[in-house]
Amino acid sequence: MPRIAEQIEQIYRQVIHRNPGEAEFHQAVREVIDTLGPVLRKHPEFADHKIIERICEPERQIIFRVPWQDDRGEVHINRGFRVEFNSALGPYKGGLRFHPSVYLGIVKFLGFEQIFKNALTGLPIGGAKGGSDFDPKGKSDDEVMRFCQSFMTELYRHLGEYTDVPAGDIGVGAREIGYLFGQYKRITNRYESGVLTGKNPQWGGALVRREATGYGAVYFVDEMLKVRGQSFEGKRCVVSGSGNVAIYTIEKIQELGGKVVACSDSAGVIYHKDGINLETLKRLKEVERERIAGYVKEHRDAEYIAGGNIWEIPCQVAMPSATQNELDGESARQLVANGCIAVGEGANMPTTPEGVRVFSEAGTSYAPGKAANAGGVATSALEMQQNASRDAWTFDYTERRLHEIMKEIHRSCYEMAEEFGSPGNYVIGANAVGFIRVAEAMVAFGLI
Ligand code: GLU
Repeated sequence: MPRIAEQIEQIYRQVIHRNPGEAEFHQAVREVIDTLGPVLRKHPEFADHKIIERICEPERQIIFRVPWQDDRGEVHINRGFRVEFNSALGPYKGGLRFHPSVYLGIVKFLGFEQIFKNALTGLPIGGAKGGSDFDPKGKSDDEVMRFCQSFMTELYRHLGEYTDVPAGDIGVGAREIGYLFGQYKRITNRYESGVLTGKNPQWGGALVRREATGYGAVYFVDEMLKVRGQSFEGKRCVVSGSGNVAIYTIEKIQELGGKVVACSDSAGVIYHKDGINLETLKRLKEVERERIAGYVKEHRDAEYIAGGNIWEIPCQVAMPSATQNELDGESARQLVANGCIAVGEGANMPTTPEGVRVFSEAGTSYAPGKAANAGGVATSALEMQQNASRDAWTFDYTERRLHEIMKEIHRSCYEMAEEFGSPGNYVIGANAVGFIRVAEAMVAFGLI
């Protein structure tokens, strides 16, 4: 048997060879397997059963054509994806992303992350991701509806409440989930509420699902701050993005007494030194579906920095909540130099590997997305529970469950990192906890 480090290197080379050109997937795999040495030393049975090699290969990958017609009658063709990565712990579970950057490598990186994230929730859900290179920006409601119907007309045959349960991600919110669910219901002639999560609470959705990713990320960072003997009270915070995750991250930080001075979109940054006005932001984004540049029209004391880098704004807590690789080594150094003590990822893999190294060397508390943003999918699993029992829980009860789950994820990651001799290293803790749970189930199920 080659040494563990060599085995890991070999597995990585095989992943690159088998998935050419999929840089984000390679990055996500590298980040996880590089931390697994101590786990493999403690559990030699995982190597015997080739668990890493098996986890890195999706169980099933579906790629399909999505034809649709715009309002002028012109026909467009997009590409649809669903990567059903791992079902050791439950039905495939993970969001759909509609964004022009989507290709197989993005879907695989997200699906791979989702395996461990979902395992961390402690709830019975496997890992998957899907989406399309369709761009909902600038499309009419009717166009989005026709696209969603066409997408589901192909995907429905792979779904089911015990098989595969999608939800939203970038570009897929309550409106898209509504159209997707409507089409699933029509094609299958089944009111199978549990086949999609993130539904409107009026027809089978869970209260708190909309808020869950952001709230959960803040709860996680709150736990990290407690370890340092601190809290959000009076902290200056920066939250990148202005979508669903960012909005509810800002809301919970404000509730806990922190001040969020900046947010962003792909075109620019809003800096408001007195604190972002959430009412304005929600109206712009959730009702008017506008860009954040419009914010300064209503708040003359705020500043719009077109094309700006949000991480240059000094803060004590940074919560990257936009998209992958949005925070690089240089930005991380800047944050550290400006006194940032905690980073919690609301987005998936927003920090580059160099950025992660900078935080780790500086002693910044750093929560990787698979732990920090697991509250979204955890609440999806709570939605599945409610659907299965034809029940609907109150907001307060559901939020309490979410809070408990996030505290438990923090505790398990923290303790696992300590056990492996890296106290405070949530990357090692999260990867080890998630991996061990999936690996133990795979060993128990035999070679399937
Ligand atoms: N897209 C979200 C995530 O990255 C949620 C997935 C879900 O609720 O299934 O975890």
